Amino acid sequence: MNIAVVCTGTELLKGATVNSNLARLGAEMTAAGIPLSMEIAVGDRREEIGSAIASAMKSADVLILCGGLGPTRDDITLDVACSFFGCGLERSPELEKKVAEFWNRIHTGHCPENQFRQARVPAGGHYLPNPVGSASGLAFSSVYGGRVRHIFLLPGPPTEFVPMMHDYLLPELLRIDPVRRCTAGFLAAAVGESTLAKLVEPVLASYPVEIAYTAVPEGTKLFLEGSDPETVSEALEKARAAAGEDALPAGETDLYAYLVRLLAERNLSFGSAESCTGGLIASLMTDIPGVSRVYKGTIVSYADEVKRDVLGVPADILATRGAVSEEVAFLMAQNAARVLGCGCAVSTTGIAGPDGGSPEKPVGLVYAGCCLFGETTVLKLNLRGGREAIRRRAAARAVCQLVKRLISCSASSKSATIF
Ligand code: ATP
Ligand code: MG
Repeated sequence: MNIAVVCTGTELLKGATVNSNLARLGAEMTAAGIPLSMEIAVGDRREEIGSAIASAMKSADVLILCGGLGPTRDDITLDVACSFFGCGLERSPELEKKVAEFWNRIHTGHCPENQFRQARVPAGGHYLPNPVGSASGLAFSSVYGGRVRHIFLLPGPPTEFVPMMHDYLLPELLRIDPVRRCTAGFLAAAVGESTLAKLVEPVLASYPVEIAYTAVPEGTKLFLEGSDPETVSEALEKARAAAGEDALPAGETDLYAYLVRLLAERNLSFGSAESCTGGLIASLMTDIPGVSRVYKGTIVSYADEVKRDVLGVPADILATRGAVSEEVAFLMAQNAARVLGCGCAVSTTGIAGPDGGSPEKPVGLVYAGCCLFGETTVLKLNLRGGREAIRRRAAARAVCQLVKRLISCSASSKSATIF
């Protein structure tokens, strides 16, 4: 089933609104086994919406239109769609009642006529209830290009779009076509997109799966999509083996969430000492629900005094080696574990730029420390990108170091048990 989405709204093209509806829809449709094939974003203009529908209908069996169902003259999505498919519009007495009721919840007096634009339903179609807004969703079918197409219209405000997608759109789509696609993936931690592609493509060549890569600061996510779940999972295991020890287990695509799971399984607590990442590790960790089981917190030791007074990094080391040095990263991680009272800790100290670099210590130079059970290791990194990218990558590489050490620790304890 080929599913296309047309998102309407000039604000989407101007960058004033992030197309979060597409992101939600894409993620949930993929999870449901009916991934999207195409998306087009257009302004609130009749000709543009019409040509977007025409483009989408070259291949789509299902067309989802998002936005522009309101009561004002510029809300034209329904009119354009119905005129494209040659479908009439009828006023629904049931919807007229709902529109008037919704109006009277917020206003006094008579419901103005323009509100009843939202009471129109395509001939032969039906409406999708909207418990939080006045514009109902709409659904109808039409024969176009010799085959039946299914058209759904949903309101743009995310508070209305998301519940309607869950409650009506997804169940109706799953009824229309019971065939499911299966998607599975993993994160290759600290591995670039082209490196991963070189490793996995040869082993995937013989599998009937679609391959998608997503580069993130934590590495590269690989997703495989196919019609047979067993084939997809076999291909994924082959790809994981080819990616080597950098591959997280199947299904693990979020480094921070995976770390939380690893720590929880081992009953270990974790903390951080952050200089150049300035609390980013704490922010990313605390984005994960339930992290309080394992995460103690961070010490944002941006200034040398904090590294010295709170983390106990000796002043002479700071003076002779500099704050951005292997020794300081080492002591930050080791002492953070002690100060925060946790089994493991990571640290970051580096030059995020754009200023502050020198020939010996250029922008992007970061030391990431990792203390696990009292043993501390430090990675020297030369990271690319602007300030934001360097900070995200520094946080990721620090955490990644811990993840890899936790995995190799359990691998060696496993082999110790076996032999
Ligand atoms: P209006 O008369 O304000 O246009 P409407 O009922 O037609 O109302 P929409 O145009 O569908 O509503 O959407 C209005 C709100 O929803 C705006 O705040 C808009 O930025 C937001 N919105 C629309 N489309 C999207 C989208 N794809 N992702 C996220 N937000 C969106
Ligand atoms: Mg609008």
